[in-house]
Amino acid sequence: MDFNDSPEEAAFRSQVRAWLDAHAGPFRSGSSMAARRPSHDELLRLAKAWQAKKADAGYAAITWPKAWGGGGGEPIQQVIFNQEEQKAGVAFPFFTIGLGMCIPTVMAFADEATKKRFVGPAIRGEEIWCQLFSEPAGGSDVAALRTRAERAEDGSGDWIINGQKVWTTGAHYSDYGILLTRTNPDVPKHKGLTMFWIDMHAPGVEVRPIHQMSGGSEFNEVYFTDLRVKDSQRLGDVGQGWQVALVTLMNERLAVGGASGPNYREILELARTTLGADGPAIEDRAFRQRLADWYVQAEGLKFTRYRTMTALSRGQTPGPESSIGKIIAANQLQDLTNQAIEMQDQFGIIADPSIAPMEAAFQQAFMWAPGLRIAGGTDEILRNIIAERVLGLPGDVRVDKDVAFKDMPRGV
Ligand SMILES: Cc1cc2nc3c(=O)[nH]c(=O)nc-3n(C[C@H](O)[C@H](O)[C@H](O)COP(=O)(O)OP(=O)(O)OC[C@H]3O[C@@H](n4cnc5c(N)ncnc54)[C@H](O)[C@@H]3O)c2cc1C
Repeated sequence: MDFNDSPEEAAFRSQVRAWLDAHAGPFRSGSSMAARRPSHDELLRLAKAWQAKKADAGYAAITWPKAWGGGGGEPIQQVIFNQEEQKAGVAFPFFTIGLGMCIPTVMAFADEATKKRFVGPAIRGEEIWCQLFSEPAGGSDVAALRTRAERAEDGSGDWIINGQKVWTTGAHYSDYGILLTRTNPDVPKHKGLTMFWIDMHAPGVEVRPIHQMSGGSEFNEVYFTDLRVKDSQRLGDVGQGWQVALVTLMNERLAVGGASGPNYREILELARTTLGADGPAIEDRAFRQRLADWYVQAEGLKFTRYRTMTALSRGQTPGPESSIGKIIAANQLQDLTNQAIEMQDQFGIIADPSIAPMEAAFQQAFMWAPGLRIAGGTDEILRNIIAERVLGLPGDVRVDKDVAFKDMPRGV
Protein backbone atom coordinates (compact mmCIF):
# COMPACT_ATOMS: atom_id res chain seq x y z
CA MET A 1 0.00 0.00 0.00
CA ASP A 2 1.29 3.49 -0.86
CA PHE A 3 0.51 6.27 1.60
CA ASN A 4 1.90 9.11 -0.46
CA ASP A 5 1.17 10.50 -3.87
CA SER A 6 3.67 9.45 -6.53
CA PRO A 7 5.59 12.48 -7.94
CA GLU A 8 3.15 12.59 -10.91
CA GLU A 9 0.12 12.38 -8.59
CA ALA A 10 1.55 15.13 -6.33
CA ALA A 11 2.08 17.34 -9.39
CA PHE A 12 -1.49 16.69 -10.55
CA ARG A 13 -2.80 17.48 -7.03
CA SER A 14 -1.04 20.86 -6.93
CA GLN A 15 -2.26 21.67 -10.43
CA VAL A 16 -5.85 20.87 -9.30
CA ARG A 17 -5.46 22.93 -6.10
CA ALA A 18 -4.18 25.92 -8.06
CA TRP A 19 -7.08 25.66 -10.49
CA LEU A 20 -9.64 25.35 -7.66
CA ASP A 21 -8.07 28.33 -5.84
CA ALA A 22 -8.47 30.38 -9.00
CA HIS A 23 -12.02 29.32 -9.90
CA ALA A 24 -14.00 27.80 -6.99
CA GLY A 25 -14.69 31.03 -5.03
CA PRO A 26 -18.02 32.14 -6.56
CA PHE A 27 -19.41 28.58 -6.42
CA ARG A 28 -18.74 27.90 -2.72
CA SER A 29 -22.16 28.89 -1.39
CA GLY A 30 -23.33 25.38 -2.37
CA SER A 31 -21.25 23.72 0.36
CA SER A 32 -23.02 22.07 3.33
CA MET A 33 -21.25 24.31 5.87
CA ALA A 34 -22.08 27.55 4.05
CA ALA A 35 -23.88 30.22 6.05
CA ARG A 36 -26.70 30.58 3.54
CA ARG A 37 -28.26 27.60 1.79
CA PRO A 38 -29.28 28.63 -1.72
CA SER A 39 -32.67 27.51 -3.04
CA HIS A 40 -32.77 24.27 -5.02
CA ASP A 41 -33.08 26.09 -8.37
CA GLU A 42 -30.19 28.40 -7.49
CA LEU A 43 -28.06 25.41 -6.46
CA LEU A 44 -28.85 23.63 -9.74
CA ARG A 45 -27.93 26.73 -11.75
CA LEU A 46 -24.68 27.07 -9.78
CA ALA A 47 -23.89 23.36 -10.25
CA LYS A 48 -24.48 23.50 -14.02
CA ALA A 49 -22.22 26.56 -14.38
CA TRP A 50 -19.51 24.85 -12.29
CA GLN A 51 -19.78 21.67 -14.38
CA ALA A 52 -19.32 23.67 -17.63
CA LYS A 53 -16.24 25.35 -16.14
CA LYS A 54 -14.80 21.95 -15.20
CA ALA A 55 -15.55 20.62 -18.70
CA ASP A 56 -13.65 23.55 -20.28
CA ALA A 57 -10.63 22.70 -18.12
CA GLY A 58 -10.81 18.91 -18.80
CA TYR A 59 -11.82 18.10 -15.18
CA ALA A 60 -15.48 17.15 -15.73
CA ALA A 61 -14.85 13.52 -16.72
CA ILE A 62 -11.14 13.01 -16.20
CA THR A 63 -10.94 9.35 -17.21
CA TRP A 64 -13.06 9.57 -20.35
CA PRO A 65 -11.47 9.79 -23.81
CA LYS A 66 -10.67 13.30 -25.03
CA ALA A 67 -12.55 12.51 -28.25
CA TRP A 68 -15.74 12.32 -26.15
CA GLY A 69 -15.02 15.56 -24.27
CA GLY A 70 -13.30 13.90 -21.31
CA GLY A 71 -9.87 14.58 -19.87
CA GLY A 72 -8.11 11.40 -21.13
CA GLY A 73 -6.62 10.86 -17.62
CA GLU A 74 -6.25 8.04 -15.09
CA PRO A 75 -8.80 6.86 -12.45
CA ILE A 76 -6.41 7.94 -9.67
CA GLN A 77 -6.51 11.50 -11.04
CA GLN A 78 -10.31 11.44 -10.81
CA VAL A 79 -10.03 10.37 -7.15
CA ILE A 80 -7.51 13.16 -6.45
CA PHE A 81 -9.76 15.72 -8.14
CA ASN A 82 -12.81 14.50 -6.16
CA GLN A 83 -10.87 14.84 -2.89
CA GLU A 84 -9.69 18.35 -3.64
CA GLU A 85 -13.09 19.45 -4.96
CA GLN A 86 -14.69 18.17 -1.75
CA LYS A 87 -12.17 20.10 0.37
CA ALA A 88 -12.77 23.24 -1.69
CA GLY A 89 -16.52 23.00 -0.90
CA VAL A 90 -17.68 22.83 -4.52
CA ALA A 91 -18.65 19.17 -4.93
CA PHE A 92 -22.26 19.28 -6.20
CA PRO A 93 -24.35 16.09 -6.17
CA PHE A 94 -26.43 16.55 -9.36
CA PHE A 95 -24.18 14.80 -11.88
CA THR A 96 -22.91 11.84 -9.84
CA ILE A 97 -25.53 9.37 -11.06
CA GLY A 98 -25.46 10.53 -14.69
CA LEU A 99 -21.71 10.74 -15.12
CA GLY A 100 -20.85 8.00 -12.64
CA MET A 101 -23.39 5.38 -13.70
CA CYS A 102 -25.75 6.18 -16.59
CA ILE A 103 -23.42 7.65 -19.23
CA PRO A 104 -20.74 4.93 -18.73
CA THR A 105 -23.54 2.42 -19.43
CA VAL A 106 -24.63 4.38 -22.53
CA MET A 107 -20.98 4.48 -23.66
CA ALA A 108 -20.67 0.72 -23.21
CA PHE A 109 -23.90 -0.32 -24.94
CA ALA A 110 -25.32 2.43 -27.21
CA ASP A 111 -24.63 2.94 -30.92
CA GLU A 112 -22.25 5.69 -32.07
CA ALA A 113 -25.01 8.18 -32.96
CA THR A 114 -26.57 7.86 -29.49
CA LYS A 115 -23.20 8.30 -27.77
CA LYS A 116 -22.45 11.38 -29.89
CA ARG A 117 -25.82 12.85 -28.99
CA PHE A 118 -25.62 12.35 -25.20
CA VAL A 119 -22.06 12.19 -23.87
CA GLY A 120 -21.01 15.82 -24.51
CA PRO A 121 -24.13 17.52 -23.02
CA ALA A 122 -23.88 15.26 -19.94
CA ILE A 123 -20.22 16.13 -19.36
CA ARG A 124 -20.98 19.85 -19.65
CA GLY A 125 -23.88 19.55 -17.17
CA GLU A 126 -26.41 20.63 -19.81
CA GLU A 127 -28.44 17.42 -19.42
CA ILE A 128 -28.95 15.43 -16.24
CA TRP A 129 -29.61 11.69 -16.02
CA CYS A 130 -31.24 9.43 -13.42
CA GLN A 131 -31.14 5.71 -12.66
CA LEU A 132 -34.52 3.93 -12.80
CA PHE A 133 -33.85 0.51 -11.22
CA SER A 134 -35.54 0.18 -7.79
CA GLU A 135 -39.22 -0.62 -7.46
CA PRO A 136 -41.57 -1.27 -4.54
CA ALA A 137 -40.99 -5.03 -5.08
CA GLY A 138 -37.39 -4.86 -6.26
CA GLY A 139 -34.78 -2.97 -4.23
CA SER A 140 -31.97 -5.06 -2.80
CA ASP A 141 -33.28 -7.81 -5.06
CA VAL A 142 -33.57 -5.52 -8.08
CA ALA A 143 -33.92 -8.49 -10.46
CA ALA A 144 -37.39 -9.04 -8.94
CA LEU A 145 -38.65 -5.88 -10.65
CA ARG A 146 -42.06 -5.90 -12.36
CA THR A 147 -42.06 -2.96 -14.79
CA ARG A 148 -43.01 -4.58 -18.12
CA ALA A 149 -41.72 -3.71 -21.60
CA GLU A 150 -43.65 -5.40 -24.41
CA ARG A 151 -43.31 -5.11 -28.16
CA ALA A 152 -45.91 -2.77 -29.69
CA GLU A 153 -48.55 -4.70 -31.62
CA ASP A 154 -48.27 -2.42 -34.69
CA GLY A 155 -45.13 -4.19 -35.94
CA SER A 156 -43.00 -1.02 -35.58
CA GLY A 157 -40.51 -2.80 -33.30
CA ASP A 158 -41.19 -0.15 -30.61
CA TRP A 159 -41.67 -1.12 -26.96
CA ILE A 160 -44.58 -0.18 -24.68
CA ILE A 161 -43.64 0.22 -21.02
CA ASN A 162 -45.92 0.05 -17.97
CA GLY A 163 -44.98 -0.03 -14.30
CA GLN A 164 -43.49 1.96 -11.43
CA LYS A 165 -40.08 2.87 -10.03
CA VAL A 166 -39.35 4.35 -6.61
CA TRP A 167 -36.56 6.27 -4.84
CA THR A 168 -35.36 7.65 -8.17
CA THR A 169 -32.85 10.32 -7.17
CA GLY A 170 -33.23 13.53 -9.15
CA ALA A 171 -35.95 12.25 -11.54
CA HIS A 172 -37.72 15.63 -11.10
CA TYR A 173 -34.82 17.58 -12.61
CA SER A 174 -33.49 14.86 -14.94
CA ASP A 175 -33.76 15.02 -18.71
CA TYR A 176 -33.03 11.34 -19.40
CA GLY A 177 -32.81 8.08 -17.49
CA ILE A 178 -31.72 4.48 -17.85
CA LEU A 179 -34.59 2.12 -17.20
CA LEU A 180 -34.42 -1.58 -16.30
CA THR A 181 -37.53 -3.52 -17.39
CA ARG A 182 -38.85 -7.08 -17.57
CA THR A 183 -39.31 -8.27 -21.14
CA ASN A 184 -39.70 -12.00 -20.48
CA PRO A 185 -41.46 -13.39 -17.38
CA ASP A 186 -41.11 -16.99 -18.62
CA VAL A 187 -37.43 -17.30 -17.66
CA PRO A 188 -35.67 -16.93 -14.25
CA LYS A 189 -35.68 -13.38 -12.91
CA HIS A 190 -32.14 -12.34 -13.94
CA LYS A 191 -32.59 -13.62 -17.50
CA GLY A 192 -35.74 -11.77 -18.57
CA LEU A 193 -34.57 -8.16 -18.15
CA THR A 194 -33.82 -5.49 -20.78
CA MET A 195 -32.37 -1.98 -20.37
CA PHE A 196 -33.48 1.19 -22.24
CA TRP A 197 -32.63 4.86 -22.13
CA ILE A 198 -35.70 7.08 -21.93
CA ASP A 199 -36.66 10.74 -22.25
CA MET A 200 -37.99 11.81 -18.84
CA HIS A 201 -40.30 14.36 -20.50
CA ALA A 202 -41.94 11.84 -22.90
CA PRO A 203 -45.71 11.28 -22.69
CA GLY A 204 -46.35 8.31 -20.37
CA VAL A 205 -43.72 9.32 -17.76
CA GLU A 206 -45.08 10.79 -14.52
CA VAL A 207 -42.70 11.91 -11.77
CA ARG A 208 -44.06 12.28 -8.24
CA PRO A 209 -41.59 13.71 -5.68
CA ILE A 210 -41.35 12.02 -2.25
CA HIS A 211 -41.30 14.50 0.64
CA GLN A 212 -38.50 13.84 3.13
CA MET A 213 -38.26 14.57 6.85
CA SER A 214 -35.53 17.12 6.05
CA GLY A 215 -38.10 19.23 4.19
CA GLY A 216 -36.50 18.49 0.83
CA SER A 217 -37.63 16.26 -2.06
CA GLU A 218 -34.66 14.63 -3.70
CA PHE A 219 -36.26 11.27 -4.56
CA ASN A 220 -39.29 10.31 -6.57
CA GLU A 221 -41.81 7.74 -7.58
CA VAL A 222 -41.87 7.43 -11.37
CA TYR A 223 -44.89 5.91 -13.13
CA PHE A 224 -44.93 4.61 -16.72
CA THR A 225 -48.24 4.37 -18.53
CA ASP A 226 -47.99 3.07 -22.09
CA LEU A 227 -44.64 4.80 -22.52
CA ARG A 228 -43.51 4.12 -26.11
CA VAL A 229 -39.79 3.78 -26.75
CA LYS A 230 -37.95 2.98 -29.97
CA ASP A 231 -36.00 -0.26 -30.24
CA SER A 232 -32.95 1.95 -30.91
CA GLN A 233 -33.27 3.11 -27.26
CA ARG A 234 -32.40 -0.39 -26.11
CA LEU A 235 -29.03 -0.71 -24.31
CA GLY A 236 -27.67 -4.21 -24.84
CA ASP A 237 -29.51 -7.24 -26.17
CA VAL A 238 -33.05 -8.22 -25.27
CA GLY A 239 -32.80 -10.35 -22.09
CA GLN A 240 -29.29 -9.05 -21.26
CA GLY A 241 -30.50 -6.28 -18.94
CA TRP A 242 -28.92 -7.84 -15.85
CA GLN A 243 -25.45 -7.82 -17.46
CA VAL A 244 -26.01 -4.19 -18.50
CA ALA A 245 -27.17 -3.29 -14.97
CA LEU A 246 -24.01 -4.84 -13.50
CA VAL A 247 -21.92 -2.47 -15.62
CA THR A 248 -23.94 0.45 -14.22
CA LEU A 249 -23.50 -0.77 -10.65
CA MET A 250 -19.78 -1.53 -11.00
CA ASN A 251 -19.20 2.07 -12.03
CA GLU A 252 -20.37 3.10 -8.55
CA ARG A 253 -17.07 1.78 -7.19
CA LEU A 254 -15.05 4.72 -8.48
CA ALA A 255 -17.03 7.05 -6.23
CA VAL A 256 -14.36 6.82 -3.51
CA GLY A 257 -13.55 10.50 -3.19
CA GLY A 258 -14.63 10.64 0.46
CA ALA A 259 -17.81 10.57 2.54
CA SER A 260 -19.89 13.71 2.51
CA GLY A 261 -21.07 15.26 5.76
CA PRO A 262 -19.49 16.39 9.01
CA ASN A 263 -16.68 14.26 10.48
CA TYR A 264 -14.91 13.91 13.85
CA ARG A 265 -12.97 17.17 13.36
CA GLU A 266 -16.18 19.12 12.95
CA ILE A 267 -17.91 17.56 15.97
CA LEU A 268 -14.75 18.32 17.97
CA GLU A 269 -15.13 21.94 16.89
CA LEU A 270 -18.82 21.89 17.87
CA ALA A 271 -17.99 20.34 21.27
CA ARG A 272 -15.52 23.13 22.02
CA THR A 273 -18.15 25.81 21.51
CA THR A 274 -21.25 24.05 22.89
CA LEU A 275 -22.04 24.51 26.58
CA GLY A 276 -23.70 21.67 28.50
CA ALA A 277 -24.88 21.65 32.15
CA ASP A 278 -21.31 20.97 33.33
CA GLY A 279 -19.38 23.23 30.97
CA PRO A 280 -18.16 22.81 27.38
CA ALA A 281 -19.18 19.46 25.85
CA ILE A 282 -15.54 18.70 25.08
CA GLU A 283 -14.93 18.25 28.83
CA ASP A 284 -17.45 15.40 29.00
CA ARG A 285 -15.55 12.11 29.45
CA ALA A 286 -18.18 9.96 27.73
CA PHE A 287 -18.09 12.29 24.71
CA ARG A 288 -14.29 12.17 24.57
CA GLN A 289 -14.42 8.38 24.51
CA ARG A 290 -16.82 8.39 21.54
CA LEU A 291 -14.66 10.98 19.80
CA ALA A 292 -11.70 8.64 20.15
CA ASP A 293 -13.77 5.82 18.56
CA TRP A 294 -14.72 8.05 15.59
CA TYR A 295 -11.10 9.07 15.18
CA VAL A 296 -9.99 5.40 15.09
CA GLN A 297 -12.75 4.56 12.58
CA ALA A 298 -11.80 7.55 10.43
CA GLU A 299 -8.16 6.44 10.39
CA GLY A 300 -9.26 2.90 9.43
CA LEU A 301 -11.36 4.33 6.61
CA LYS A 302 -8.50 6.52 5.47
CA PHE A 303 -6.20 3.52 5.16
CA THR A 304 -8.87 1.42 3.45
CA ARG A 305 -9.20 4.24 0.92
CA TYR A 306 -5.42 4.23 0.48
CA ARG A 307 -5.78 0.57 -0.56
CA THR A 308 -8.38 1.55 -3.16
CA MET A 309 -6.22 4.44 -4.33
CA THR A 310 -3.16 2.20 -4.52
CA ALA A 311 -5.13 -0.24 -6.71
CA LEU A 312 -6.24 2.63 -8.95
CA SER A 313 -2.75 4.09 -9.03
CA ARG A 314 -1.45 0.70 -10.29
CA GLY A 315 -4.15 0.57 -12.97
CA GLN A 316 -6.13 -2.15 -11.12
CA THR A 317 -9.89 -2.18 -10.51
CA PRO A 318 -10.86 -1.83 -6.82
CA GLY A 319 -12.42 -5.02 -5.47
CA PRO A 320 -15.57 -5.69 -3.42
CA GLU A 321 -13.66 -4.72 -0.23
CA SER A 322 -14.61 -1.09 -0.97
CA SER A 323 -18.06 -2.07 0.44
CA ILE A 324 -16.43 -1.86 3.91
CA GLY A 325 -15.94 1.88 3.54
CA LYS A 326 -19.59 2.61 2.94
CA ILE A 327 -20.80 0.57 5.91
CA ILE A 328 -18.40 2.32 8.30
CA ALA A 329 -18.85 5.83 6.88
CA ALA A 330 -22.67 5.70 6.83
CA ASN A 331 -22.96 4.26 10.36
CA GLN A 332 -20.43 6.72 11.70
CA LEU A 333 -22.28 9.65 10.13
CA GLN A 334 -25.53 8.55 11.79
CA ASP A 335 -23.86 8.02 15.18
CA LEU A 336 -21.88 11.25 15.07
CA THR A 337 -24.79 13.45 13.95
CA ASN A 338 -27.05 11.86 16.57
CA GLN A 339 -24.53 12.90 19.24
CA ALA A 340 -24.34 16.42 17.75
CA ILE A 341 -28.12 16.83 17.94
CA GLU A 342 -28.13 15.67 21.58
CA MET A 343 -25.33 18.11 22.33
CA GLN A 344 -27.33 21.00 20.87
CA ASP A 345 -30.19 20.19 23.24
CA GLN A 346 -33.37 22.13 22.37
CA PHE A 347 -31.49 24.13 19.71
CA GLY A 348 -31.13 20.84 17.82
CA ILE A 349 -34.53 21.44 16.26
CA ILE A 350 -34.35 25.15 15.55
CA ALA A 351 -30.89 26.12 14.29
CA ASP A 352 -30.98 28.35 11.24
CA PRO A 353 -28.12 28.05 8.71
CA SER A 354 -27.83 31.83 8.48
CA ILE A 355 -27.26 32.07 12.28
CA ALA A 356 -25.53 28.76 13.07
CA PRO A 357 -24.22 27.13 9.86
CA MET A 358 -22.28 24.38 11.63
CA GLU A 359 -25.22 23.33 13.86
CA ALA A 360 -27.57 23.38 10.85
CA ALA A 361 -25.16 21.27 8.78
CA PHE A 362 -25.20 18.61 11.53
CA GLN A 363 -29.00 18.65 11.53
CA GLN A 364 -29.20 18.18 7.76
CA ALA A 365 -26.66 15.37 7.91
CA PHE A 366 -28.59 13.74 10.81
CA MET A 367 -31.66 13.51 8.57
CA TRP A 368 -29.67 12.30 5.55
CA ALA A 369 -27.61 9.61 7.37
CA PRO A 370 -30.30 6.86 7.57
CA GLY A 371 -30.77 7.08 3.78
CA LEU A 372 -27.05 6.68 3.24
CA ARG A 373 -27.21 3.32 5.03
CA ILE A 374 -29.74 2.14 2.39
CA ALA A 375 -28.68 3.86 -0.86
CA GLY A 376 -26.30 1.97 -3.16
CA GLY A 377 -26.71 -1.25 -1.12
CA THR A 378 -28.02 -1.58 2.44
CA ASP A 379 -25.72 -2.46 5.36
CA GLU A 380 -26.97 -6.08 5.24
CA ILE A 381 -26.43 -6.47 1.48
CA LEU A 382 -22.93 -5.01 1.73
CA ARG A 383 -22.18 -7.40 4.61
CA ASN A 384 -23.35 -10.27 2.39
CA ILE A 385 -20.97 -9.07 -0.36
CA ILE A 386 -18.07 -8.89 2.09
CA ALA A 387 -18.92 -12.31 3.55
CA GLU A 388 -19.23 -14.03 0.18
CA ARG A 389 -16.76 -12.23 -2.05
CA VAL A 390 -14.06 -11.03 0.34
CA LEU A 391 -14.14 -13.65 3.14
CA GLY A 392 -15.28 -16.57 0.95
CA LEU A 393 -18.08 -17.62 3.33
CA PRO A 394 -21.02 -19.73 2.04
CA GLY A 395 -23.48 -17.80 -0.16
CA ASP A 396 -26.88 -16.37 0.84
CA VAL A 397 -29.85 -18.69 0.25
CA ARG A 398 -31.17 -18.05 -3.28
CA VAL A 399 -34.08 -20.44 -3.82
CA ASP A 400 -35.56 -18.58 -6.82
CA LYS A 401 -32.45 -18.62 -9.02
CA ASP A 402 -33.77 -21.22 -11.46
CA VAL A 403 -37.52 -20.53 -11.20
CA ALA A 404 -39.34 -18.72 -14.06
CA PHE A 405 -40.27 -15.21 -12.88
CA LYS A 406 -43.99 -15.84 -13.57
CA ASP A 407 -43.92 -18.83 -11.18
CA MET A 408 -42.40 -16.93 -8.25
CA PRO A 409 -44.69 -16.09 -5.31
CA ARG A 410 -45.73 -12.46 -5.85
CA GLY A 411 -46.48 -11.52 -2.22
CA VAL A 412 -48.91 -8.63 -1.90
C1 LIG B 1 -30.98 8.05 -0.56
C2 LIG B 1 -31.42 7.01 -1.54
C3 LIG B 1 -31.25 7.20 -2.91
C4 LIG B 1 -31.64 6.23 -3.82
N1 LIG B 1 -31.51 6.48 -5.17
C5 LIG B 1 -31.92 5.54 -6.06
C6 LIG B 1 -31.85 5.81 -7.47
O1 LIG B 1 -31.46 6.90 -7.91
N2 LIG B 1 -32.27 4.86 -8.32
C7 LIG B 1 -32.73 3.63 -7.90
O2 LIG B 1 -33.04 2.79 -8.74
N3 LIG B 1 -32.84 3.37 -6.56
C8 LIG B 1 -32.44 4.29 -5.64
N4 LIG B 1 -32.55 4.04 -4.29
C9 LIG B 1 -33.16 2.78 -3.85
C10 LIG B 1 -32.17 1.83 -3.24
O3 LIG B 1 -31.35 1.23 -4.23
C11 LIG B 1 -32.99 0.78 -2.48
O4 LIG B 1 -33.68 1.47 -1.45
C12 LIG B 1 -32.10 -0.28 -1.87
O5 LIG B 1 -31.57 -1.10 -2.88
C13 LIG B 1 -32.86 -1.15 -0.87
O6 LIG B 1 -34.03 -1.63 -1.43
P1 LIG B 1 -35.44 -1.49 -0.66
O7 LIG B 1 -35.59 -0.09 -0.21
O8 LIG B 1 -36.50 -2.08 -1.56
O9 LIG B 1 -35.30 -2.40 0.64
P2 LIG B 1 -35.44 -3.98 0.70
O10 LIG B 1 -34.59 -4.60 -0.36
O11 LIG B 1 -36.88 -4.35 0.73
O12 LIG B 1 -34.78 -4.29 2.09
C14 LIG B 1 -35.50 -4.17 3.32
C15 LIG B 1 -34.59 -4.67 4.44
O13 LIG B 1 -34.28 -6.06 4.24
C16 LIG B 1 -32.87 -6.26 4.22
N5 LIG B 1 -32.54 -7.30 3.24
C17 LIG B 1 -32.99 -7.41 1.95
N6 LIG B 1 -32.43 -8.46 1.34
C18 LIG B 1 -31.61 -9.06 2.25
C19 LIG B 1 -30.73 -10.20 2.21
N7 LIG B 1 -30.63 -10.93 1.12
N8 LIG B 1 -30.03 -10.47 3.33
C20 LIG B 1 -30.12 -9.71 4.45
N9 LIG B 1 -30.94 -8.64 4.55
C21 LIG B 1 -31.66 -8.31 3.46
C22 LIG B 1 -32.29 -4.91 3.78
O14 LIG B 1 -30.95 -4.77 4.19
C23 LIG B 1 -33.23 -3.94 4.48
O15 LIG B 1 -32.84 -3.75 5.82
C24 LIG B 1 -32.18 5.01 -3.36
C25 LIG B 1 -32.36 4.80 -1.99
C26 LIG B 1 -32.00 5.78 -1.08
C27 LIG B 1 -32.23 5.55 0.38
